[in-house]
Amino acid sequence: MPKVLVVEDDPVVQAALVHALTDLGHVVQAVGTAVAALREAGTSELDLVILDLGLPDLDGVAALRMLRGVSNVPVIVATARGAEASVVSTLNAGADDYIVKPFSAEHLAARINALLRRTGGSAVASEVVELGGLRIDLAQRAATLGDSALVLSRREFDLLAYLAQRPGRVISRRELIQAVWGNPYVGDDKTIDVHASWLRRKLGETAAHPRYLHTVRGVGFKLAAPE
Ligand code: CA
Repeated sequence: MPKVLVVEDDPVVQAALVHALTDLGHVVQAVGTAVAALREAGTSELDLVILDLGLPDLDGVAALRMLRGVSNVPVIVATARGAEASVVSTLNAGADDYIVKPFSAEHLAARINALLRRTGGSAVASEVVELGGLRIDLAQRAATLGDSALVLSRREFDLLAYLAQRPGRVISRRELIQAVWGNPYVGDDKTIDVHASWLRRKLGETAAHPRYLHTVRGVGFKLAAPE
């Protein structure tokens, strides 16, 4: 999943951005200063940076120049309305795109996807998993089977997504509980079996006649395209 660094000193805007981006399926980190952003960009693998131009420690152009010194990560600068003039200099300093505040989550998502597509695309490509007639959009948290949309609960979607990203592999119940429920002690085999059976019903199949979701007795589950 794409890893996004949010650089924004306003805590309210920062929290809203983190929330929106997390909802979109990104792994999000947030910092409030340019110095912290530079430290982060120098040490971790990032897919995208959203950089507020009005930071307390460095002006946007300087921040961007320094960022470019340590990383080629795609950057979207966020600027206040009326400050569009400064955008040109940040684009010259190496920003890939800009967005004017206030912006909606949908608008930001569209910009991000377009940018990730332009700048390599691996992050975007991996957001959609296709297996036979099953299509799972990890960013939108939507799944379709053939032409019909699947109406899945959060857990059902997480379970399906985890299996679909490891097609044909038998995944143990323990691994699934850890990945989907996030705690090895919270669920038992029954929890996962119940969710698997709900998911299976929504896929229009039965345990006796599986097409996609296979139970591997005594071990766990695997998801595979029908033969
Ligand atoms: Ca600011």
